[in-house]
Amino acid sequence: MRYCVKCVQPDTRPGIKFNDEGVCPACVYAENMKSIDWTERKKELMKLVEEHKKHNKLLQYDCIIGVSGGKDSTRQALYVKEVLGLKPLLVCCTYPPEQQTERGAYNLGNLISQGFDTISVSPSPHIWKRLMRQGFLKYGNWARSTEMALFASVPRVAIAYHIPLIFWGENPATQFGNLGVGSLNWNGNLMRNSNTISGGPDVLLEQDMHENDIIWYRYPSLTEMEQANLQIVYLGYFWKDWSKLNNGNFSIAHGLEIRDDPPENQGALNPFDALDDDFVVVNQMIKHIKYGFGKVTDEVCEQIRVGTLTRAEGVELVKKYDGRCASSYIQRFCKYIDISGDTFWEVVESFRNQDVWTKDPVAGWKLKCPLK
Ligand SMILES: [Zn+2]
Repeated sequence: MRYCVKCVQPDTRPGIKFNDEGVCPACVYAENMKSIDWTERKKELMKLVEEHKKHNKLLQYDCIIGVSGGKDSTRQALYVKEVLGLKPLLVCCTYPPEQQTERGAYNLGNLISQGFDTISVSPSPHIWKRLMRQGFLKYGNWARSTEMALFASVPRVAIAYHIPLIFWGENPATQFGNLGVGSLNWNGNLMRNSNTISGGPDVLLEQDMHENDIIWYRYPSLTEMEQANLQIVYLGYFWKDWSKLNNGNFSIAHGLEIRDDPPENQGALNPFDALDDDFVVVNQMIKHIKYGFGKVTDEVCEQIRVGTLTRAEGVELVKKYDGRCASSYIQRFCKYIDISGDTFWEVVESFRNQDVWTKDPVAGWKLKCPLK
């Protein structure tokens, strides 16, 4: 396990490759951003929008934005409406009532109330929960199916309503350095190659589940997307000050309700991420066991790149908080997918990466190559 010499990114992130100097792709991208002509980029964005208006035969909406009501989607939606002057249709795949947090429901309401037409997609809670359970038991990742639904529902609605232009926020390739999801530009059509989407829901199905149970989890085929002339665009590419912190501050000023749990409970520094679901805290802890890094690493990396944290400060924060998760989150998660605490730990430990971790007889599990 190696770490980027500029930020604290480890090379255990799936799909990542450091350059010869030991620098991760996200840091290389961040450095290149300093010489970008942002006025030119805005023109490029407007040209893209005009191109797609030509294909938008029904002239209902200019574009679709996939939203959760969180910090990124609130900022995106208001930017598209107020700065670009477009008429978007918001599409939200919501968690079932049992899983969605009150703050998540409040935030979605807060976004809609700022003047948007919104379609809410709510797949059956029964199938939803069973797929989550399978994802956890088979892959140690309950979010596999829910991510499929979050990503697939947006192009599904776009095709159904004949709206060919879709805006997403961040390009995972530039934000995290995950090159498996395609290019470092605005083109989000390559999102379909990501591990989660390309795997598809089939591997999670149980015998009594049918194709019509998983419509919202099935990403449209390449043919369906081509016939609909669908274009997915990462807005973050065109945006100079796109960052978690800026999006968070902007959205808080526009009514976003945030978390109040301290970092030692939620394994995260920022109070404004993934506000509509609390089980994500559990998943980040499992990620830490699988790959040796969790959410705090991601947060610290971004802050080092934008200059709000030194690498040394970041190292301390990662050591202190990464992978932390209060037992109350784990208990609620076990209850939700109906497993015992023993089963939970048995599954999680079966995914512990032995290349990354070593067991000290006194101190317990330790990273073989701790961050320095
Ligand atoms: Zn880096």
